Amino acid sequence: MAKIRLCVEHPLGQGQTVPLERDQAHYLFGVMRQGEGTMVALFNGRDGEWQAEVTQAGKRGGELVCRSQSRPQSHPPDLWLLFAPIKKARTDFIVEKAAEMGAAKIQPVQTEFTNAERIRRDRLQAHAVEAAEQCGATHVAEVEDLVKLDRLLADWPEDRQLMVCDEAFADASYGTPDGAPRPLSDAPRGAWAVLIGPEGGFSPAERRRLHSQPFVWPVQLGPRILRADTAAVAALTLWQATLGDW
Ligand code: SAM
Repeated sequence: MAKIRLCVEHPLGQGQTVPLERDQAHYLFGVMRQGEGTMVALFNGRDGEWQAEVTQAGKRGGELVCRSQSRPQSHPPDLWLLFAPIKKARTDFIVEKAAEMGAAKIQPVQTEFTNAERIRRDRLQAHAVEAAEQCGATHVAEVEDLVKLDRLLADWPEDRQLMVCDEAFADASYGTPDGAPRPLSDAPRGAWAVLIGPEGGFSPAERRRLHSQPFVWPVQLGPRILRADTAAVAALTLWQATLGDW
């Protein structure tokens, strides 16, 4: 079985020829020192994983031929990670970990206390692709452009539940709409999202708005305040273990 995995755009199937982009050719032949005859595992998020043989190796490109399918296409749970971008390296970490943890979509969100006003979507998407390549997934999490929290809530799809991670949940003034606790273990399966706030937390107005939505499940991740990147991993772990594919 091939040790190197690459995500490609091209369709994959028995005997299918797949051209390599310049960056991938540089990585495979320049950095990894592979050549013709090497077997590489390819996936494109649609056709499963294929074992492909390098038939042309050049500095600016190359070609592979699919020999056999090694995995069928798998589909992650219908889970979005919504997070307020923080410092660059920590945002990169969140995207990488969310992709590894099986999020289908990664949605950067601008809240009142978010410091970042823009993100490089293409750079973050490249991190998600790399994470998929290394963790053996056959799908790639889709990274969206930054959107304001208000707009996101205004357009929220009716049938999608939202797990809001809020360290202030223990504060009685932010109860659920009817004031009753909502354990995650009672929640329906299906379409979900997890929301992680910025370093400064949610504003009082955001808290009131979030906690009055019928689709919101407020969750406290233990008694300590976690950094946003730690909270993202903890929240995805909790969700996957309770409602996901673990
Ligand atoms: N408001 C806090 C403050 O400034 O003290 C810090 C916010 S925390 C660094 C960033 C985000 O991580 C929060 O908005 C929340 O979504 C999540 N978070 C951190 N600790 C948490 C906990 N114990 N329970 C639930 N969510 C938590």
